[in-house]
Amino acid sequence: MNGKRETFDLVENPVSSLYGSNSFSNAVMRERLPKNIFREVLAVQAGEKELTLEVAEVVAASMRDWALEKGATHFTHWFQPLTGLTAEKHDSFISPTSDGKVLMEFSGKELIKGEPDASSFPSGGLRATFEARGYTAWDVTSPAFLNQDPTGTTLCIPTAFISYYGHALDKKVPLLRSMDALNRQAMRVLRALGNTSAKRVVTTVGPEQEYFLVDKKYFDQRSDLLLTGRTVFGSMPAKGQELEDHYYGAINERVAEFMREVNIELWKMGVSAKTQHNEVAPNQYELAPIFTTTNVAADGNQLVMETIKKVARRNGMEALLHEKPFAGVNGSGKHNNWSIATDDGVNLLDPGENPESNARFLLFTAAVIEAVDRYALLLRASTATAGNDHRLGANEAPPAIISVYLGSQLSEIFDNIAEGKTSNGSANGQRIKLGVTSLPSLPKDVSDRNRTSPFAFTGNKFEFRMVGSSQSIATPNTYLNVSVAQVLSEFADKLEKATDKNAAIQAIIKESYSKHRRVVFNGNNYSEEWVREAERRGLPNIRATVDSLQVTTQKEITDMFEAHKVLSREEMESRYHIYLERYSKQINIEAGVMIEMARRQIFPAVTAYAGSLSRDAAALAALGAVSSPQAKRAKKIAELTNELYDETDKLEKVLEEAQGIEDIFTKAKAYREKVVAQMAPVRSKVDSLEKLVAKDAWPFPSYEELLFKL
Ligand code: ADP
Ligand code: MG
Repeated sequence: MNGKRETFDLVENPVSSLYGSNSFSNAVMRERLPKNIFREVLAVQAGEKELTLEVAEVVAASMRDWALEKGATHFTHWFQPLTGLTAEKHDSFISPTSDGKVLMEFSGKELIKGEPDASSFPSGGLRATFEARGYTAWDVTSPAFLNQDPTGTTLCIPTAFISYYGHALDKKVPLLRSMDALNRQAMRVLRALGNTSAKRVVTTVGPEQEYFLVDKKYFDQRSDLLLTGRTVFGSMPAKGQELEDHYYGAINERVAEFMREVNIELWKMGVSAKTQHNEVAPNQYELAPIFTTTNVAADGNQLVMETIKKVARRNGMEALLHEKPFAGVNGSGKHNNWSIATDDGVNLLDPGENPESNARFLLFTAAVIEAVDRYALLLRASTATAGNDHRLGANEAPPAIISVYLGSQLSEIFDNIAEGKTSNGSANGQRIKLGVTSLPSLPKDVSDRNRTSPFAFTGNKFEFRMVGSSQSIATPNTYLNVSVAQVLSEFADKLEKATDKNAAIQAIIKESYSKHRRVVFNGNNYSEEWVREAERRGLPNIRATVDSLQVTTQKEITDMFEAHKVLSREEMESRYHIYLERYSKQINIEAGVMIEMARRQIFPAVTAYAGSLSRDAAALAALGAVSSPQAKRAKKIAELTNELYDETDKLEKVLEEAQGIEDIFTKAKAYREKVVAQMAPVRSKVDSLEKLVAKDAWPFPSYEELLFKL
């Protein structure tokens, strides 16, 4: 355990006073900053101005005072490098003066430009290592916050990380740029529709986080969990998750206490943890925040992941954020609830109640459907990681095929528009004339939910369910935003030229939906029939990360990213390299751990156990037994051990081959096709052995301890 446990009294410290108490939010800035400076900050947040050094100086001074009052000793530029984790470099506020005293300092320059010596973060060749300078700059729209732990209190400044030459080196910069791109195109559409009130469009996200909890004493005994976050071995106990009796069940007290602490920590930083419940699998849980602007949600989700891990340790547990910690048990994802809203509070994916809002809703929804169909490969690539390969396309939720769930009613409405048909019943028997006739009210409840869909409409937003549980949500949202911005730009081109807007809206939806309705699927996405049906429809089904990532270097895609000023071709290439390398490294570690455990833990344990069985069998034979169960079992174990020995040798051989490959694509391909493939028989031998060996002779805790004991 690291750190002591804080106790909180929610009566003395009600949530209302606790919430955001460690966040340098707009409310705090309004109170502490001079009026004119606060107005400047708001203008910067709205994208109307750049942050000047003068304003930054005043904000920095105020931020420093606030942080010092709350006991902070250090500050850090908190950023998301391409490793997907967050990184921070701590600097002390203390700066010595010439007379030997110290001053608590923090300047405007340090706020807008930190200079982490972060040359060891991957840049895919963009930033030669001798050119060590990369800069971090405050993302003014994401509030600074205090991180409190036993080592002290640190002021964390959410930042974007860029190279000396302006290249994006992190996940935040492209996310912010993609939000701008979507804003530009959505505003064009809104203006063409006659909207004069909205000034800005933002994307909103509420990422639901799934994770497992295991007891730390079991976790510590498994090097696979320690080093890779997942179990490379483990056979299912008699009671699996078939009964699903854990789902929404009562939360055990130890976990409840942990959740309470997680909530309090997050609330203090201004991250709204709203609902928490048990998930389908044993010891699996979910935390849902209240949605917010995408970049803030992305920062918030990083904090959610860090806090879950930190608080779990404090409570003698370990949180597993890996996409597939256990074979044969549901994996973990991150449901990325996504929508588009105007600055004056209109959710553009909400059908609304009048003909105009209905027409706007259908137009924006059509744009999302078209984007998901045209850029399915890109969206798939945004979720491609070694961990997620165990979920997507591996008989598990959701499949690697991207489809959109609309529900029967909304599908029917779109079908009718596409076919220019009179609607039967659900639209009150009327021909839908956009901008004139209202839609029937669409169900917003869960009754019509389809939990198997990778991209589901849920009443007033879409839920992108392919995102992996350990991933930053920045990249999936960046790719999604760019794709939708592209389609909206084409819609805007048409609308701006049209004289009869209603006719134009109708025509655009008709054309778009007719062409892209193939991506709509309301049935069971886990079924075999769907895989065949999707193939017939021509929808891509890419199971492996290494194949999936390739699309990000295709000309059509890099052109689109350049056109929307999100990432240059060079930046896309560098990311492609980094992600491929990361994949290979991950598999390399997993295979290495597997070989180690097989040779140094399992082999000695099973041979010792088989030896004791043989001795018993020999003793029985000496007493005249012709055959004994001990002899049979020893024989079976010996056979399996032999096979395990050979399969492990084969794994070592293919691993060494993969390690020797230079070209990053060929290398990643070898890891996928040779190494991952050879890990399967090794695992299968070990898991069979586990079933034959006495529980106390097995060298590390099994699934039973990991999944059912907390
Ligand atoms: P559930 O899916 O459990 O029925 P909700 O539909 O209320 O619950 O929301 C699930 C998640 O979606 C929450 O994190 C919520 O904040 C988020 N969400 C709700 N509305 C939006 C929206 N307009 N944009 C983005 N996320 C949203
Ligand atoms: Mg959900």
